[in-house]
Amino acid sequence: MHSQDLQALDRAHHLHPFTDFKALGEEGSRIVTHAEGVYIHDSEGNRILDGMAGLWCVNLGYGRQELVEAATAQLRELPYYNNFFKTTHPPAVKLAEKLCQLAPAHVNHVFFTGSGSEANDTVLRMVRRYWALKGKPEKQWIISRENAYHGSTVAGMSLGGMAPMHAQGGPLVPEISHVRQPYWFGEGRDQSPEAFGRTCAEAIEARILELGEDNVAAFIAEPVQGAGGAIMPPASYWPAVKEVLAKYDILLVVDEVICGFGRLGEWFGSLHYDLEPDLMPIAKGLSSGYLPIGGVLVGDRVAETLIEEGGEFFHGFTYSGHPVCAAVALKNLEIMQAEGVVEGVRDDLGPYLAERWASLAEHPLVGEARSLGLMGALELVADKASGGRFDKRLAVGNLCRDICFASGLVMRSVGDTMIIAPPLTITREQIDELVALARDALDETA
Ligand code: PLP
Repeated sequence: MHSQDLQALDRAHHLHPFTDFKALGEEGSRIVTHAEGVYIHDSEGNRILDGMAGLWCVNLGYGRQELVEAATAQLRELPYYNNFFKTTHPPAVKLAEKLCQLAPAHVNHVFFTGSGSEANDTVLRMVRRYWALKGKPEKQWIISRENAYHGSTVAGMSLGGMAPMHAQGGPLVPEISHVRQPYWFGEGRDQSPEAFGRTCAEAIEARILELGEDNVAAFIAEPVQGAGGAIMPPASYWPAVKEVLAKYDILLVVDEVICGFGRLGEWFGSLHYDLEPDLMPIAKGLSSGYLPIGGVLVGDRVAETLIEEGGEFFHGFTYSGHPVCAAVALKNLEIMQAEGVVEGVRDDLGPYLAERWASLAEHPLVGEARSLGLMGALELVADKASGGRFDKRLAVGNLCRDICFASGLVMRSVGDTMIIAPPLTITREQIDELVALARDALDETA
């Protein structure tokens, strides 16, 4: 079928996620037809460097035949069975074991879901169930952060702190409260990064006292806020947050949907920041995005209570631990281990990107260039000396994103913050190419 015909059908019938449906109708979609390594190809014959690994998920890159074979073999063997009641199947069991080997030592259980959003729905259920079982049902409030993204279901969207989603979402899940994010460049430059990190932790404590110190169940955050703008917190932030949570006996939920599986140069972002989460939602890189699968890694404290005292947990999904998805995820993790992908990000590619990416800070349009592991951001500014921003109506970030795309690089924009999170299998040469394409796009945007 010709691309114009596909575009017409797309316009006629297909409602895209996070898209202005009408604008899509006017412009038509770019049709991605195939991909290999770190490159996607479109129907017009263009090759584009995927600086976002799809949606932060294709960690092993495109075209891995081992994953195709794992899926095919499992489809032949057992395409579907569920894990409800007292049944299970080998891929789910083996994947559970592997995940618990890779997770921090106090994490020994996993509950499977089909996505990151479902994982965060599961988190909400588990947190509230845990405190009810502990005889503290008044512990209901969950503290999250402004501008956080934790999914698109009603629970995920309520846990998240995206104002435009809340505005369109109708009544939110009650008793979720949002505090400021540790976004130094955007909100904290009147202090040193270290002082600002502590200020943000103090804001959590202040909110706990406001809500009532016996009423707060959990704090949820990503190690590095991803979709919010690749926001690496100041070094003082997480140690101070840990202290506050311990003081009031509040569960820590670390959303690893983006940061998990090597993005920050450790198997989990929690390991980079030395966190001991009670619950860790996961998805995306778990299967390198080849098939949809997510889950919640459950620390011993919560797991023991749910197991010993909980009785039946009335929660689960038809596709919890789907055998084909689980087989692909398991193979994905085995390949990552065999190829030393995570160590490669930590010891080689992450430091290399950091050095190359930092060179973009010299560009007149860039107020800050930051990266950790294989996640990076550029802050676009109107006035380099003061760090003054553009008028929001100019949508400079979107312009830069579109220029990138047209010239062969996928880079995402969150307002005027440009983001990259390429496949973890990118080479040094491809990092050079990515940085050169980003520089050209900045020149053209300026
Ligand atoms: N949590 C985080 C941190 C995410 O970035 C996302 C998706 O981008 C989700 C949860 C939701 O995952 P999914 O889109 O698989 O439902």
